[in-house]
Amino acid sequence: MAKLYSDSSTKTVKTCIFCLIAHHQDKETEVIKENKELVCFRDIAPAAPHHYLVVPKQHIHSCFSLQRGHIHLIERMAEMGKAVLHDQGITDMKDIRLGFHQPPYTSVDHLHLHVLAPASQIYQCMEYKFILRSDRFVTEKCLQEYLKDNAPAVQDALCLPL
Ligand SMILES: [Zn+2]
Ligand SMILES: [Zn+2]
Repeated sequence: MAKLYSDSSTKTVKTCIFCLIAHHQDKETEVIKENKELVCFRDIAPAAPHHYLVVPKQHIHSCFSLQRGHIHLIERMAEMGKAVLHDQGITDMKDIRLGFHQPPYTSVDHLHLHVLAPASQIYQCMEYKFILRSDRFVTEKCLQEYLKDNAPAVQDALCLPL
């Protein structure tokens, strides 16, 4: 699978667009599902008929910032993504793609799960961004496996409130 490593960069999160969305500070974006920990909204540049992002309300930089203890967070993000697809009428849960971009291929430096359906209808011009087992993209399942086996030793997750 694609290589993951630890990222220890720190950045101010005051202007992070996903923090703003998660805290209802961005009027342009409609939050379509929410709980105490996560929010879900539509990707502004959809790559498939259904394309949503699930983000934690807490600012986490990227999948390189994750520790073994985040496995359940990833699981819950995937659960919310699937619940949204279900709400939107998607019935073939095999024809979906869930995953994360790996730095430097992240467009926003706030952890977000891409939720796409149907996977067989991902637009050709965007497909290169979501190729399985590439350096660019890691599925939610692969990331969980990775975290189980190779949890980084260094505590470097960014847990800065807005
Ligand atoms: Zn953020
Ligand atoms: Zn992304």
